[in-house]
Amino acid sequence: MSVVELFYSLQGEGRFTGVPAVFIRLAGCTNACRWCDSKASWTLDGHPQRTVDAIVAQALLFPSRMAVITGGEPLLHPLDALCDALKRHQFRLHLETSGTASLSGVWDWVCLSPKRHRPPRPAIYPAADELKVVIETAADFAWAEENAAQVSPACLLLMQPEWSRRKTILPPVIDYIQQRPQWQLSLQTHKWLHIE
Ligand code: SF4
Repeated sequence: MSVVELFYSLQGEGRFTGVPAVFIRLAGCTNACRWCDSKASWTLDGHPQRTVDAIVAQALLFPSRMAVITGGEPLLHPLDALCDALKRHQFRLHLETSGTASLSGVWDWVCLSPKRHRPPRPAIYPAADELKVVIETAADFAWAEENAAQVSPACLLLMQPEWSRRKTILPPVIDYIQQRPQWQLSLQTHKWLHIE
């Protein structure tokens, strides 16, 4: 598999904020989001090729048994073998996806972060445990509701102010959530804390 980086940190966003985890960032993404903070992961080429066994061996060097598979868009890779191998070592498996490719792997937690310019495949919605919608402009509130209408009733609904616009968009996001308490605020705490 083409791996951009494997590192140990705290989950910075969403329901598991603050939980230590091994992050496995897989290469490849065609979504080209303006605000992407991992543009180095867009290309499949130019990153180390690792076997599943090598990825698992590196993940086992860290004490947490929570692994976050992220990208890029990790679903561009078939993920069943990686999930199987990590599960054999009792990892809790989290997926971070835009939902623009077919779901593979078996997951303990799926974070779906839909992109307005590249909508998710409909089949991903029932699998989402957490819907995390980046709010860049006021138009994204309607986009968030469109997506919320498609996930399961148990799915956590999160709005996350786009980092570069946080000063202007955070107040309307807070106001929106206060008026619609089915939503919660997600912050990119790793950026506030200046950690990876
Ligand atoms: S889906 Fe994620 S990795 Fe891909 S361009 Fe958008 S923010 Fe970047």
